[in-house]
Amino acid sequence: MTHKEKADQLLHQQYHCSQALFGAFADDFGLDLKTAFRISTCFGGGMRQGGTCGCITASLLVLGMAFGFYDSQDRELEVYGNKKTEDFIRRFSEKMEGAVCCRDILGKDISKPEEMAQIRKDGLILKKCPRASNASIEILEEMLTEYLKNAAESSIDLDDIPENEMQRVFKGIRKLNRFRRNVNNLLYSSDKEIGFIQFDIRKFKIINDLYGEKFGNEVLEFTLHELESICNEKQFFINLRSDVFMVVTEYKTEAELVDFIQNLDRKIGSFKNVKLQMVYGVYTVEDRGMELRQMEDRAAMARKAAKNIVLSNILFYREQFKESLYNRKFIEENLQAAIAGRQFMMYLQPKYSIAKNEIIGAEALVRWRHPERGMIYPDQFIPVIEENGFIQKVDYYIWEEACRFIRKCKDAGIVPCPVSVNMSRIHLRDNECVGVLSDLIQAYAIPKRLLELEITETADDQQISRKALQLKEEGFTLLMDDFGSGYSSLNVLLETPFDVIKLDRKFIENMMISKKGRLILEQGVSMADKLRLGLLAEGVETREQIELLQSIGCDQVQGYYYARPMPEEEFFELLKEQRRTPEAMPED
Ligand code: C2E
Ligand code: CA
Ligand code: CA
Repeated sequence: MTHKEKADQLLHQQYHCSQALFGAFADDFGLDLKTAFRISTCFGGGMRQGGTCGCITASLLVLGMAFGFYDSQDRELEVYGNKKTEDFIRRFSEKMEGAVCCRDILGKDISKPEEMAQIRKDGLILKKCPRASNASIEILEEMLTEYLKNAAESSIDLDDIPENEMQRVFKGIRKLNRFRRNVNNLLYSSDKEIGFIQFDIRKFKIINDLYGEKFGNEVLEFTLHELESICNEKQFFINLRSDVFMVVTEYKTEAELVDFIQNLDRKIGSFKNVKLQMVYGVYTVEDRGMELRQMEDRAAMARKAAKNIVLSNILFYREQFKESLYNRKFIEENLQAAIAGRQFMMYLQPKYSIAKNEIIGAEALVRWRHPERGMIYPDQFIPVIEENGFIQKVDYYIWEEACRFIRKCKDAGIVPCPVSVNMSRIHLRDNECVGVLSDLIQAYAIPKRLLELEITETADDQQISRKALQLKEEGFTLLMDDFGSGYSSLNVLLETPFDVIKLDRKFIENMMISKKGRLILEQGVSMADKLRLGLLAEGVETREQIELLQSIGCDQVQGYYYARPMPEEEFFELLKEQRRTPEAMPED
């Protein structure tokens, strides 16, 4: 039975619209009808007052079950969930020509007994409510199909799936959600390393053609069956689509991980005497704070790249895949639309003083919210746009957003904090950036010291040093980004008049595990002190790190321990809470 049929049936059995609608989806979420009715009764109250149509509340429950946020740490998901809610209400209102209240849909007020009697007498519920419930179901099915399509990068056209096959789509979503929940738990709780393995079957299409589709399906079932027998309770797998599978596992050493894959490969390497060749892409997690989808993407990139190598069928994701062809093509094709469609956004990550427990600044970080692919992170597209020159447009946009934000704080009577923006090295090679920055400062009438510039240190480069000097002379504050990340050259500190050193995240991590790391850090602090440079530690994630940093005299920090990068509005509220000023605002 389709969702629409089920909902209609329940309406005919005199259930309320919220119950009928949520009930129609109960099976998709593994709920029995009774429980579904109870839940929707709790939430459908607005409708009984003659207010919001119960189909809306029930639909939001469905969305919540499908991709609502359940992890208070996962801001991306929260933002995403909120956006879906807005999306739904907008589409509903469009389909219903503005009617979102029970009153408007029924033309009567169910909170008034006399009108309710009339509704019953005229059988209005069965005449009018199915329109709202059908509209809701159409939108929900559209939204969930879109989601699944993106989640699985599906090559099949889900639009062609007949309505009664929608249940299958939902099963897919449920599986994917369950898989992701399990993986998130593992990432959270495991003290071992975690690896993402994505694999597919080479020339699966040809196998289908040669031996028939039925055989092809048997191969997939066989693969799932073998995975089931190999994986223990801490190893999770999923069949993402057709012949693409993903396994997430703990491991101690890379050798152990390779052993696991080779063992798997032996088990699934042939079926009914037909040889199957698998290609494996592996992503080993370094940063557990990264979004799950990004980890999945990296394993996928490695799998795709693995198809082109001959010596082995296992390929580990390495940093350079960020620029993989696949990604590059997508980015290049979508850039123009991204700028035009205002898909780039500024996120702000607070910087804190440990001693004062106060916000002392923020870093502006770009985010690309693609309507279909969702959030794209800078390390996925910055390397590409640095090469094709697009970085200019994006950076100028973020710089302007930062200035606009500072202006907004001033206008709202909040003492603004300095906002630092990232400066690609590309800018330091052209002659435009100094003028662009000065113009922005003027246009928004903000003090220069509030816009700070982050520049990544590299091996000495005369040209860059000269440009940096020029910016410094113009009165900008210069932050040396990623200090200690590998290109360290103390010479840079001599050549370029930086004001603040930002210690790289890796640096902070190392100091926690080795004595030597700590010693170097102490030296760094005292050097910064002697050179009268500010010092800020990046990527601070734990209480221990905070304590250690404090004990060696580093007070300024930025990192997940305090806050993740967040949408501008959220940061604005945070700042407002902390520093609302009495009437008069000193202009600088
Ligand atoms: P970055 O300048 O070193 O920025 C800090 C990165 O570390 C950010 O990643 C931030 O989200 C992340 N981070 C902050 N705190 C923590 C923590 O406690 N733990 C961990 N694991 N990570 C933390 P994001 O936003 O993905 O940016 C990555 C890089 O992309 C930036 O590194 C910067 O080099 C570049 N980038 C970002 N936005 C822009 C931009 O507007 N223009 C240019 N040119 N580059 C940008
Ligand atoms: Ca930075
Ligand atoms: Ca950095």
